[in-house]
Amino acid sequence: MDKISSVILFAVIGALVVMFWPLLVLYKGTKKHKSKQVKNMSRNDYFTNQSNQMNQRSSSGIDESRPATIAVIYRSEMDYISRCIHDYPNIETGGQLFGFVTEYGAPVVCYAIGPGPRANHQPAQFNQDTEYLQNTYNELNRRYGLRYIGEWHSHHQLGLAKPSGGDTQTVVYGIKRRNFRHFLLCIGNCDSNQHSTLNAFTFHLDDPFNYFHAPWKIIEMESPYRPIIDRDLSDWLCHPRTQRASYGSIYIITDSGTTSRITPKYTDEYWLNDKANNVILKRIIDFLTNYENESTVKPMLDGQKYVHLMVQRGNHQERIVFGNQFPNEAPKIEVTEGVYVNDTAVWQYDGNIFDSFVRYYDDLFKKETYDS
Ligand SMILES: [Zn+2]
Repeated sequence: MDKISSVILFAVIGALVVMFWPLLVLYKGTKKHKSKQVKNMSRNDYFTNQSNQMNQRSSSGIDESRPATIAVIYRSEMDYISRCIHDYPNIETGGQLFGFVTEYGAPVVCYAIGPGPRANHQPAQFNQDTEYLQNTYNELNRRYGLRYIGEWHSHHQLGLAKPSGGDTQTVVYGIKRRNFRHFLLCIGNCDSNQHSTLNAFTFHLDDPFNYFHAPWKIIEMESPYRPIIDRDLSDWLCHPRTQRASYGSIYIITDSGTTSRITPKYTDEYWLNDKANNVILKRIIDFLTNYENESTVKPMLDGQKYVHLMVQRGNHQERIVFGNQFPNEAPKIEVTEGVYVNDTAVWQYDGNIFDSFVRYYDDLFKKETYDS
Protein backbone atom coordinates (compact mmCIF):
# COMPACT_ATOMS: atom_id res chain seq x y z
CA MET A 1 0.00 0.00 0.00
CA ASP A 2 1.51 3.31 -1.00
CA LYS A 3 1.50 6.40 1.12
CA ILE A 4 -1.49 8.07 -0.55
CA SER A 5 -3.85 5.12 -0.33
CA SER A 6 -3.01 4.51 3.32
CA VAL A 7 -3.83 8.12 4.08
CA ILE A 8 -7.15 7.83 2.21
CA LEU A 9 -8.03 4.61 4.02
CA PHE A 10 -7.31 6.20 7.34
CA ALA A 11 -9.38 9.25 6.50
CA VAL A 12 -12.32 7.11 5.41
CA ILE A 13 -12.25 4.98 8.52
CA GLY A 14 -11.88 8.08 10.63
CA ALA A 15 -14.93 9.60 8.98
CA LEU A 16 -16.95 6.42 9.42
CA VAL A 17 -16.12 6.14 13.09
CA VAL A 18 -16.97 9.76 13.69
CA MET A 19 -20.19 9.55 11.71
CA PHE A 20 -21.25 6.40 13.49
CA TRP A 21 -20.38 7.54 16.95
CA PRO A 22 -24.11 7.79 17.77
CA LEU A 23 -24.54 4.08 17.09
CA LEU A 24 -21.54 3.27 19.24
CA VAL A 25 -22.74 5.19 22.26
CA LEU A 26 -26.36 4.19 21.99
CA TYR A 27 -25.82 0.49 21.77
CA LYS A 28 -24.74 0.24 25.40
CA GLY A 29 -27.94 1.87 26.51
CA THR A 30 -30.05 -0.40 24.34
CA LYS A 31 -28.49 -3.50 25.82
CA LYS A 32 -28.70 -2.31 29.39
CA HIS A 33 -32.40 -1.51 29.24
CA LYS A 34 -33.55 -4.45 27.20
CA SER A 35 -36.14 -5.49 29.78
CA LYS A 36 -38.03 -2.23 29.24
CA GLN A 37 -39.16 -3.38 25.81
CA VAL A 38 -41.96 -5.38 27.40
CA LYS A 39 -43.82 -2.07 27.71
CA ASN A 40 -44.41 -1.97 24.00
CA MET A 41 -45.86 -5.44 23.64
CA SER A 42 -49.50 -4.58 23.06
CA ARG A 43 -48.70 -2.07 20.37
CA ASN A 44 -46.22 -4.52 18.94
CA ASP A 45 -48.93 -7.18 18.66
CA TYR A 46 -51.12 -4.73 16.81
CA PHE A 47 -48.49 -4.14 14.21
CA THR A 48 -47.62 -7.78 14.00
CA ASN A 49 -51.21 -8.40 12.97
CA GLN A 50 -50.93 -5.63 10.44
CA SER A 51 -47.76 -7.21 9.17
CA ASN A 52 -49.44 -10.61 8.92
CA GLN A 53 -52.19 -9.11 6.81
CA MET A 54 -49.60 -7.40 4.69
CA ASN A 55 -47.76 -10.67 4.36
CA GLN A 56 -50.79 -12.41 2.91
CA ARG A 57 -51.50 -9.59 0.51
CA SER A 58 -48.14 -8.65 -0.78
CA SER A 59 -46.31 -10.90 -3.19
CA SER A 60 -42.96 -9.94 -1.69
CA GLY A 61 -44.37 -10.51 1.81
CA ILE A 62 -42.71 -9.55 5.04
CA ASP A 63 -39.89 -11.76 6.08
CA GLU A 64 -37.91 -11.01 9.22
CA SER A 65 -34.72 -12.32 7.58
CA ARG A 66 -34.87 -9.64 4.90
CA PRO A 67 -35.06 -5.83 5.01
CA ALA A 68 -38.52 -4.71 6.12
CA THR A 69 -40.94 -4.09 3.25
CA ILE A 70 -42.77 -1.31 5.09
CA ALA A 71 -41.81 1.43 7.52
CA VAL A 72 -44.45 2.64 9.97
CA ILE A 73 -44.60 6.20 11.27
CA TYR A 74 -47.10 8.37 13.11
CA ARG A 75 -48.28 11.45 11.25
CA SER A 76 -46.90 13.74 13.98
CA GLU A 77 -43.38 12.38 13.49
CA MET A 78 -43.53 12.69 9.71
CA ASP A 79 -44.66 16.31 10.22
CA TYR A 80 -41.89 16.92 12.72
CA ILE A 81 -39.18 15.76 10.30
CA SER A 82 -40.71 17.82 7.48
CA ARG A 83 -40.49 20.92 9.66
CA CYS A 84 -36.86 20.14 10.56
CA ILE A 85 -35.99 19.76 6.86
CA HIS A 86 -37.54 23.18 6.08
CA ASP A 87 -35.36 24.74 8.80
CA TYR A 88 -32.29 23.98 6.67
CA PRO A 89 -33.32 24.17 3.00
CA ASN A 90 -29.74 24.57 1.69
CA ILE A 91 -27.67 22.43 3.98
CA GLU A 92 -27.83 18.99 5.55
CA THR A 93 -29.67 18.39 8.77
CA GLY A 94 -30.85 15.25 10.49
CA GLY A 95 -31.76 13.37 13.59
CA GLN A 96 -32.63 10.01 15.07
CA LEU A 97 -35.71 7.80 15.13
CA PHE A 98 -36.99 6.00 18.21
CA GLY A 99 -39.64 3.34 18.59
CA PHE A 100 -39.54 -0.39 18.14
CA VAL A 101 -39.20 -3.10 15.52
CA THR A 102 -41.98 -5.67 15.04
CA GLU A 103 -41.16 -9.37 15.00
CA TYR A 104 -41.37 -9.11 11.21
CA GLY A 105 -38.66 -6.50 11.31
CA ALA A 106 -40.85 -3.51 10.42
CA PRO A 107 -39.63 -0.32 12.12
CA VAL A 108 -42.29 1.71 13.92
CA VAL A 109 -41.27 5.33 14.45
CA CYS A 110 -42.88 6.61 17.65
CA TYR A 111 -40.67 9.64 18.25
CA ALA A 112 -38.23 11.55 16.04
CA ILE A 113 -35.67 14.12 17.04
CA GLY A 114 -33.93 16.77 14.96
CA PRO A 115 -30.48 18.31 15.30
CA GLY A 116 -29.12 19.21 18.71
CA PRO A 117 -27.69 22.66 19.46
CA ARG A 118 -24.10 21.63 18.60
CA ALA A 119 -24.89 19.56 15.50
CA ASN A 120 -22.58 20.09 12.54
CA HIS A 121 -24.47 21.05 9.37
CA GLN A 122 -22.49 20.96 6.11
CA PRO A 123 -23.67 21.07 2.48
CA ALA A 124 -22.94 17.36 2.06
CA GLN A 125 -22.62 16.06 5.58
CA PHE A 126 -24.43 16.12 8.90
CA ASN A 127 -23.11 15.12 12.30
CA GLN A 128 -25.49 15.01 15.22
CA ASP A 129 -24.67 16.67 18.52
CA THR A 130 -23.64 13.49 20.36
CA GLU A 131 -24.27 14.87 23.83
CA TYR A 132 -27.79 15.92 22.85
CA LEU A 133 -28.43 12.53 21.32
CA GLN A 134 -27.01 10.60 24.26
CA ASN A 135 -29.01 12.55 26.84
CA THR A 136 -32.21 12.27 24.85
CA TYR A 137 -31.77 8.59 24.09
CA ASN A 138 -30.98 7.73 27.72
CA GLU A 139 -34.24 9.29 28.86
CA LEU A 140 -36.34 7.90 26.01
CA ASN A 141 -35.12 4.42 26.80
CA ARG A 142 -35.18 4.67 30.58
CA ARG A 143 -38.57 6.35 30.90
CA TYR A 144 -40.55 4.98 27.97
CA GLY A 145 -38.64 1.91 26.76
CA LEU A 146 -38.17 3.33 23.27
CA ARG A 147 -35.38 1.86 21.18
CA TYR A 148 -33.06 3.51 18.75
CA ILE A 149 -34.27 2.16 15.39
CA GLY A 150 -32.89 4.49 12.77
CA GLU A 151 -31.74 7.85 11.56
CA TRP A 152 -32.83 10.47 9.09
CA HIS A 153 -30.95 13.19 7.29
CA SER A 154 -31.74 15.64 4.57
CA HIS A 155 -30.07 15.92 1.18
CA HIS A 156 -31.96 19.24 0.94
CA GLN A 157 -32.08 20.35 -2.71
CA LEU A 158 -29.26 18.12 -3.99
CA GLY A 159 -31.77 15.92 -5.82
CA LEU A 160 -30.36 12.68 -4.41
CA ALA A 161 -33.44 10.98 -2.93
CA LYS A 162 -31.66 7.83 -1.78
CA PRO A 163 -28.65 7.03 0.40
CA SER A 164 -25.31 8.12 -1.05
CA GLY A 165 -22.53 5.55 -1.28
CA GLY A 166 -21.09 7.03 1.89
CA ASP A 167 -24.44 6.80 3.67
CA THR A 168 -24.72 3.11 2.80
CA GLN A 169 -21.19 2.36 3.92
CA THR A 170 -21.75 4.20 7.16
CA VAL A 171 -24.92 2.24 7.95
CA VAL A 172 -23.40 -1.10 6.97
CA TYR A 173 -20.34 -0.41 9.09
CA GLY A 174 -22.51 0.63 12.01
CA ILE A 175 -25.01 -2.24 11.98
CA LYS A 176 -22.26 -4.83 11.57
CA ARG A 177 -20.23 -3.38 14.36
CA ARG A 178 -23.22 -3.05 16.68
CA ASN A 179 -25.01 -6.18 15.51
CA PHE A 180 -28.24 -4.31 14.72
CA ARG A 181 -30.41 -6.78 12.83
CA HIS A 182 -32.67 -4.11 11.35
CA PHE A 183 -32.02 -0.46 10.67
CA LEU A 184 -34.03 2.33 9.09
CA LEU A 185 -32.33 5.15 7.21
CA CYS A 186 -34.55 7.96 5.96
CA ILE A 187 -33.42 10.45 3.36
CA GLY A 188 -35.20 13.80 3.17
CA ASN A 189 -35.29 16.25 0.31
CA CYS A 190 -36.90 19.61 -0.27
CA ASP A 191 -37.41 22.07 -3.09
CA SER A 192 -37.39 25.83 -3.26
CA ASN A 193 -41.19 25.84 -2.86
CA GLN A 194 -40.96 24.40 0.63
CA HIS A 195 -42.06 20.88 -0.25
CA SER A 196 -40.29 18.12 1.58
CA THR A 197 -40.15 14.39 0.93
CA LEU A 198 -38.94 11.58 3.11
CA ASN A 199 -37.93 8.19 1.75
CA ALA A 200 -37.44 5.14 3.96
CA PHE A 201 -34.66 2.63 3.34
CA THR A 202 -34.56 -0.54 5.40
CA PHE A 203 -31.37 -2.48 6.04
CA HIS A 204 -30.82 -6.04 7.24
CA LEU A 205 -27.66 -7.31 8.85
CA ASP A 206 -27.57 -10.54 6.79
CA ASP A 207 -27.24 -8.71 3.48
CA PRO A 208 -26.57 -5.13 4.50
CA PHE A 209 -25.71 -3.57 1.13
CA ASN A 210 -29.05 -4.66 -0.38
CA TYR A 211 -31.25 -2.12 1.31
CA PHE A 212 -34.92 -1.81 0.40
CA HIS A 213 -36.88 1.33 -0.49
CA ALA A 214 -39.86 0.77 1.82
CA PRO A 215 -43.21 2.52 1.42
CA TRP A 216 -44.48 4.38 4.47
CA LYS A 217 -47.43 3.14 6.44
CA ILE A 218 -48.55 6.42 8.01
CA ILE A 219 -50.68 6.24 11.15
CA GLU A 220 -52.88 9.30 10.81
CA MET A 221 -52.65 10.53 14.38
CA GLU A 222 -50.31 12.18 16.81
CA SER A 223 -47.86 9.72 18.34
CA PRO A 224 -49.01 9.08 21.92
CA TYR A 225 -45.38 9.62 22.95
CA ARG A 226 -45.08 13.09 21.38
CA PRO A 227 -46.93 15.30 23.91
CA ILE A 228 -45.63 13.35 26.91
CA ILE A 229 -41.98 13.40 25.89
CA ASP A 230 -42.14 17.02 24.71
CA ARG A 231 -43.44 17.92 28.15
CA ASP A 232 -41.16 15.68 30.23
CA LEU A 233 -37.95 16.59 28.40
CA SER A 234 -38.85 20.21 27.70
CA ASP A 235 -35.69 21.40 29.49
CA TRP A 236 -33.34 20.33 26.73
CA LEU A 237 -35.26 19.18 23.66
CA CYS A 238 -34.69 21.40 20.61
CA HIS A 239 -37.61 21.76 18.22
CA PRO A 240 -37.74 23.06 14.64
CA ARG A 241 -38.45 26.75 14.10
CA THR A 242 -40.58 25.98 11.06
CA GLN A 243 -44.15 25.64 12.29
CA ARG A 244 -45.80 23.84 9.42
CA ALA A 245 -45.07 20.60 7.67
CA SER A 246 -45.34 20.79 3.90
CA TYR A 247 -44.93 17.94 1.47
CA GLY A 248 -44.00 16.85 -1.98
CA SER A 249 -44.89 13.31 -2.97
CA ILE A 250 -44.49 10.59 -0.36
CA TYR A 251 -44.21 6.90 -1.20
CA ILE A 252 -46.86 5.12 0.89
CA ILE A 253 -48.68 1.82 1.22
CA THR A 254 -52.45 1.99 1.64
CA ASP A 255 -54.63 -0.16 3.87
CA SER A 256 -55.42 -2.37 0.91
CA GLY A 257 -51.71 -3.07 0.43
CA THR A 258 -51.14 -1.10 -2.77
CA THR A 259 -48.30 1.38 -2.99
CA SER A 260 -48.57 4.86 -4.45
CA ARG A 261 -47.10 8.33 -4.28
CA ILE A 262 -49.26 10.92 -2.61
CA THR A 263 -48.88 14.50 -1.48
CA PRO A 264 -50.20 14.77 2.06
CA LYS A 265 -52.03 18.00 2.70
CA TYR A 266 -51.56 19.77 5.96
CA THR A 267 -55.21 20.09 6.92
CA ASP A 268 -54.70 21.51 10.38
CA GLU A 269 -57.21 24.30 11.00
CA TYR A 270 -55.80 25.02 14.42
CA TRP A 271 -57.52 27.82 16.31
CA LEU A 272 -54.27 29.73 16.94
CA ASN A 273 -53.58 29.99 13.21
CA ASP A 274 -56.10 32.82 13.44
CA LYS A 275 -53.98 35.65 14.85
CA ALA A 276 -56.95 37.14 16.74
CA ASN A 277 -57.09 34.02 18.87
CA ASN A 278 -53.60 34.65 20.26
CA VAL A 279 -55.12 37.53 22.22
CA ILE A 280 -57.73 35.14 23.59
CA LEU A 281 -55.05 32.69 24.65
CA LYS A 282 -53.34 35.54 26.50
CA ARG A 283 -56.64 36.33 28.28
CA ILE A 284 -57.03 32.67 29.24
CA ILE A 285 -53.49 32.67 30.68
CA ASP A 286 -54.26 35.83 32.69
CA PHE A 287 -57.49 34.30 33.93
CA LEU A 288 -55.70 31.13 35.08
CA THR A 289 -52.87 33.11 36.69
CA ASN A 290 -55.34 35.01 38.85
CA TYR A 291 -57.68 32.12 39.57
CA GLU A 292 -58.08 31.70 43.34
CA ASN A 293 -54.55 31.60 44.74
CA GLU A 294 -51.98 33.05 42.44
CA SER A 295 -50.73 30.46 39.99
CA THR A 296 -47.94 30.19 37.52
CA VAL A 297 -48.96 29.32 34.00
CA LYS A 298 -46.41 28.16 31.45
CA PRO A 299 -47.48 27.80 27.82
CA MET A 300 -45.75 25.08 25.80
CA LEU A 301 -45.98 23.85 22.23
CA ASP A 302 -45.91 20.17 21.46
CA GLY A 303 -44.50 18.66 18.28
CA GLN A 304 -47.66 19.50 16.37
CA LYS A 305 -47.60 23.04 17.73
CA TYR A 306 -50.67 22.47 19.85
CA VAL A 307 -50.61 24.63 22.94
CA HIS A 308 -50.36 23.08 26.39
CA LEU A 309 -50.68 25.26 29.48
CA MET A 310 -48.83 23.96 32.52
CA VAL A 311 -50.51 25.38 35.61
CA GLN A 312 -48.88 25.25 39.05
CA ARG A 313 -51.23 26.18 41.88
CA GLY A 314 -49.82 25.47 45.34
CA ASN A 315 -48.99 21.78 45.30
CA HIS A 316 -51.37 21.10 42.46
CA GLN A 317 -50.54 20.87 38.83
CA GLU A 318 -52.75 21.02 35.82
CA ARG A 319 -52.08 20.50 32.19
CA ILE A 320 -54.54 22.04 29.76
CA VAL A 321 -54.22 20.85 26.19
CA PHE A 322 -55.85 22.75 23.35
CA GLY A 323 -56.06 20.01 20.76
CA ASN A 324 -56.76 20.15 17.07
CA GLN A 325 -60.54 20.17 17.51
CA PHE A 326 -60.61 23.02 20.02
CA PRO A 327 -62.85 25.05 20.40
CA ASN A 328 -65.40 22.67 18.89
CA GLU A 329 -64.26 20.13 21.45
CA ALA A 330 -63.31 20.78 25.06
CA PRO A 331 -59.72 21.47 26.04
CA LYS A 332 -58.26 18.40 27.72
CA ILE A 333 -57.55 19.15 31.39
CA GLU A 334 -55.37 16.81 33.46
CA VAL A 335 -54.95 17.44 37.19
CA THR A 336 -52.79 16.09 39.98
CA GLU A 337 -54.35 13.09 41.67
CA GLY A 338 -56.64 14.02 44.57
CA VAL A 339 -57.78 17.36 43.17
CA TYR A 340 -61.55 17.68 43.07
CA VAL A 341 -62.96 17.90 39.57
CA ASN A 342 -66.65 18.16 38.81
CA ASP A 343 -67.00 15.44 36.23
CA THR A 344 -70.48 16.58 35.24
CA ALA A 345 -69.06 19.76 33.70
CA VAL A 346 -69.87 19.99 30.01
CA TRP A 347 -68.04 21.98 27.36
CA GLN A 348 -70.52 24.26 25.66
CA TYR A 349 -68.98 26.38 22.96
CA ASP A 350 -71.18 29.33 22.07
CA GLY A 351 -68.86 31.12 19.62
CA ASN A 352 -67.02 33.07 22.31
CA ILE A 353 -63.87 31.11 23.16
CA PHE A 354 -62.87 33.04 26.27
CA ASP A 355 -66.33 33.04 27.91
CA SER A 356 -66.85 29.38 27.05
CA PHE A 357 -63.50 28.52 28.60
CA VAL A 358 -64.15 30.47 31.81
CA ARG A 359 -67.61 28.92 32.22
CA TYR A 360 -66.27 25.42 31.68
CA TYR A 361 -63.29 25.93 33.99
CA ASP A 362 -65.43 27.41 36.78
CA ASP A 363 -67.78 24.49 36.42
CA LEU A 364 -64.94 21.96 36.59
CA PHE A 365 -63.33 23.35 39.71
CA LYS A 366 -66.22 25.01 41.52
CA LYS A 367 -66.23 24.40 45.24
CA GLU A 368 -69.38 23.04 46.86
CA THR A 369 -70.61 26.58 47.47
CA TYR A 370 -74.22 25.60 48.02
CA ASP A 371 -73.49 23.39 51.04
CA SER A 372 -74.25 25.99 53.72
ZN1 LIG B 1 -26.61 11.37 2.87
